Amino acid sequence: MTAALSIDNLRVTYQGAHGQHVAVQDFSWAVEAGQIACLLGPSGCGKTTVLRTIAGFEPLSAGSIRLGDVLLSSPQIHLPPERRRVGMMFQEYALFPHLTAAQNVAFGLRRWAAADISPRVAEMLTLVGLPDAGRRYPHELSGGQQQRVALARAMAPTPALLLLDEPFSNLDSATRERLSVEVRDILHRAGQTAVLVTHNQAEAHTMADQIRVLGAHS
Ligand code: ADP
Ligand code: MG
Repeated sequence: MTAALSIDNLRVTYQGAHGQHVAVQDFSWAVEAGQIACLLGPSGCGKTTVLRTIAGFEPLSAGSIRLGDVLLSSPQIHLPPERRRVGMMFQEYALFPHLTAAQNVAFGLRRWAAADISPRVAEMLTLVGLPDAGRRYPHELSGGQQQRVALARAMAPTPALLLLDEPFSNLDSATRERLSVEVRDILHRAGQTAVLVTHNQAEAHTMADQIRVLGAHS
């Protein structure tokens, strides 16, 4: 079976004032369809760089990234982010404060047929356990509820792969523990293939079907 995501010998470098800085080197990884795979490692080890490269926001200098049979990135090929079928839920991607929860979820569906949008929004809000929150604004929701709306927004356009970068780090530890279980169950129920990045070992063990430890210099 073809892995949903396969990364082979990835190398990503940044151009700094004092020459090239290698952020990720010789990184290979495979994630099966429907899995929640976790990349665990300390700050600065290159986790966000791997996700940004999968999403198409960073070029790679060696290796390749495939989603199913589609080559997303190689030194010669760079599919633009909007054509990758990759969704993201990043900690810094807060909800739009001036839009309701439903409008936030609909944001990624701008290219959908009008008649399909509101049923999809309702379906996604139900999936994340907030069927009645559509008219509420972010400031009327708790931090955990806001992150569940952000999850609904990321999953609404049916991405083949969902990337989650430290999605719970702005929350208190009780909310964080509860939400990691909830989000794991939501992703499994939807059969969503996902890559979670965290430096929190407990979170990785709660959520992941597969954990890959990224060392400070791997
Ligand atoms: P993590 O998410 O694991 O904390 P990052 O992927 O953000 O790690 O960073 C990996 C390394 O690449 C770090 O040494 C960081 O300083 C460097 N880095 C990250 N982004 C940039 C950038 N835009 N320009 C230059 N260096 C960067
Ligand atoms: Mg990071």
